[in-house]
Amino acid sequence: MEKKRYERPLLKRIVPTMPGKTGQNTNAVAQTEIDGVPLEGLRERFGSPLFVFSESRLRKNIREAKQAFSTRYPEVRFAWSYKTNYLNSICSLFHEEGSWAEVVSGFEYDKAIENGVASNRIIFNGPSKSEADLLKAMRGDSLIHIDNTEELRLLTNLAVAEGIRPRVAIRVNLDAGIYPAWSRFGFNLESGQAWDALEKIASENRLSCVGLHCHIGTFIQTVNAYRVETEKMAALALDAMTKLGLPISYLDLGGGFASKNSLKSSYLTGEDLCPSFDDYAEAITSVLRRVKFPGDKKMVLVFETGRALVDNAGFLLSSVITNKRMADGRLNTVIDAGVNLLFTSFWYNHKVTTTYDNVALMEPTTLCGPLCMNIDVIRDNVLLPPLKRNDLVLIHYVGAYNVTQWMQFITMRPKVVMVKENGEVHLLRDAETLADINRMEH
Ligand SMILES: *Cc1c(COP(=O)(O)O)cnc(C)c1O
Repeated sequence: MEKKRYERPLLKRIVPTMPGKTGQNTNAVAQTEIDGVPLEGLRERFGSPLFVFSESRLRKNIREAKQAFSTRYPEVRFAWSYKTNYLNSICSLFHEEGSWAEVVSGFEYDKAIENGVASNRIIFNGPSKSEADLLKAMRGDSLIHIDNTEELRLLTNLAVAEGIRPRVAIRVNLDAGIYPAWSRFGFNLESGQAWDALEKIASENRLSCVGLHCHIGTFIQTVNAYRVETEKMAALALDAMTKLGLPISYLDLGGGFASKNSLKSSYLTGEDLCPSFDDYAEAITSVLRRVKFPGDKKMVLVFETGRALVDNAGFLLSSVITNKRMADGRLNTVIDAGVNLLFTSFWYNHKVTTTYDNVALMEPTTLCGPLCMNIDVIRDNVLLPPLKRNDLVLIHYVGAYNVTQWMQFITMRPKVVMVKENGEVHLLRDAETLADINRMEH
């Protein structure tokens, strides 16, 4: 028989502002597997901590997103946002599902090429494209989304020198009711910068301006922002076509759809709050269906959706190292995965589950990582059952922005695996070793 869990009794001050026993309990029940594959077996085979991706969730997400839009609008295209997660296997899965590539640096551009994406299916965004980047992209007939006037001038000069007419869009920023508004990328709409850039492109007549691009922000929880964005972008496209004669053929509305993750600042969880793909699609396409473009031209709608397609398909499996009672009586549980692996824990209250289900003994717990740093906190306050060394802790909604923003700090980065639809588990990325780290030093 397993030894009963025991802890020496202690007196604890009750903090009156905390929800009582009838208050909200957002904690989930025990979870022992991912898509039928036991967590215990995953740890035995690949070690802990371990990033685990679910193939079936990835495919389900992109298919749902596509269906939401394509059942409402004739021409829709998705381009996978590389910076959200550029593990080659993840990118390749989205390309297999028909997604183009959306990149924001020369490095990401090369990665897309190596993943077999045709260069004319790469959308090149980002505020810092080098001359070499621009040359590569224009020679490959990629869609270059211009961010600033310097870039516009540089690209125009290169176009003349090379005798190529690159396909471009301008990145537009606008007030969609989301504050603080992201106005540092692209050309501002309301102040007239965007129009000036379009006029310049039209009068110089060296670039083929085939699209307009706007990415209003990330984790946008209100569909109305997209309604406003679509209205403003459609109006700009209409003007650019009729007044400047620009051959606009697509509107790229960027990414930003929220996943079902929970923002720290939010009282309710993302599972309760965040709109579905259908909600976003209805808001956007209902605006666009009413707009009549010259010659009845059908604008292609482009999305660079990142986090909403991958966040819920990624898990971080970790193991308990120890429990500590803090001086004030709070319970502190230390696990072997820290904020160096989980950059998003600074903004989100990631859902946490254990394999041990005992709701009666749940206690508000601070969940810490293994780093020798006071900021290494995965959750400030999460209800957990009593845990002991080596118990498994599963962190949810970690598929977006972690395996790109993770850093090698104090510990090394762990393995990444994918649970395939057929039940097999594939290693996507090896754990780092000391030799990997030392290789780059002289
Ligand atoms: C990061 C980024 C995206 C993806 O945003 P999500 O919020 O992850 O959907 C799309 N487009 C551009 C230009 C970006 O910088």
